[in-house]
Amino acid sequence: MHFRTQPQDSKTVPMYSRSRMTHFNDDTLQQQHHSSTVRPSPRKTLEPVRQILSSSNTRPTPNRGAAIAIVASKRADQVQRTAMMVCGACERELTEDLYSGEHRVLRPSIRRCMDCVASGNQLVLLKKGRTRPEEDECPLCSLPLPLDSDQSSSNPCCLKLICNGCLLAAQKRGIMGKCPFCRTPASDNDQQIIAMMQKRVDAGDPKAMLNLGNQYSCGNFGLVKDVRKSLQLCERAADLGLKDAHYRLGFVYHFGVGVEKDTAKATRHLEAAALGGHVTARHNIGYEAMRAGNHDLAVQHFLISAKLGYQDSLNNVKIIFMQGRATKADYAEALRGHQKAVAEMTSPDRDEAKALGFEKILSVRRAKS
Ligand SMILES: [Zn+2]
Ligand SMILES: [Zn+2]
Ligand SMILES: [Zn+2]
Repeated sequence: MHFRTQPQDSKTVPMYSRSRMTHFNDDTLQQQHHSSTVRPSPRKTLEPVRQILSSSNTRPTPNRGAAIAIVASKRADQVQRTAMMVCGACERELTEDLYSGEHRVLRPSIRRCMDCVASGNQLVLLKKGRTRPEEDECPLCSLPLPLDSDQSSSNPCCLKLICNGCLLAAQKRGIMGKCPFCRTPASDNDQQIIAMMQKRVDAGDPKAMLNLGNQYSCGNFGLVKDVRKSLQLCERAADLGLKDAHYRLGFVYHFGVGVEKDTAKATRHLEAAALGGHVTARHNIGYEAMRAGNHDLAVQHFLISAKLGYQDSLNNVKIIFMQGRATKADYAEALRGHQKAVAEMTSPDRDEAKALGFEKILSVRRAKS
């Protein structure tokens, strides 16, 4: 049996009502309706996150005797001068006086020291994760997987995401009832399916951890619904660096799904996902930057995700350009990059599979010659 597990989720995206901007998406909450279909989750609005740094104000009152006041005041100055902050571009730990007031109040990932601002040194957050990793390729046709999660699926045997085009091609070649990648016979037995996934979890496979966690969060395949266990598995997968697990945790902490809401933590996970090349996470932190009024940063994020093929990011660059907050060159760059990425994700098999739809693909039989 095939079930859906995808690194990126991006079905048709609802538009944000007034500004027509799009936002966070994750359709895990809808999984209850798909006992054998595993998808990430429904999109919701991201609130802007702003981390305000606390400053230690320990200056003494002036009327306690001149000598004591001077010594204490000197100490307080030393404390203030040694307040260290990491620059999100050069990654050096620097004293706070090397940052402008504007940057001092930003969270570390989007803060730059004055040197970096002057020399135009970009944030690490914008330098990394600009391409999709190899794991985002279909292992059969080697093309980047479609961003639409309905256009790929995996089996519990190997959890390799196979594009629907290759699934259709396998059906036509008579490879049925087996995994098109590892040829393990498919099973409809819930216990067997869970056992296969558990085996991969025990072997330390982060994808299996996230997947099994998703099954626990919904109580699929005969499992007793267990949000805590789901979260533990997801955290383990994220600790092993799985970008999809970071994305999932971004959602969980942002909305407080089975945990206490923690927007700072949610942002850290989303950023970790984006640094790993997670397209939807990149779009979401762009959206968050936009909501916080940082249009320059938002455009840079949206440019990255648009160039990875994300339609909503392209739409947002266009909207920001029409508002006069992005240049025509930004929009042209986004458009070109988006077209190229979409072309790279397209193949005749995929087009045919898309027209058929997932259920029909599975009923395709080998053509008799
Ligand atoms: Zn710096
Ligand atoms: Zn393929
Ligand atoms: Zn397999």
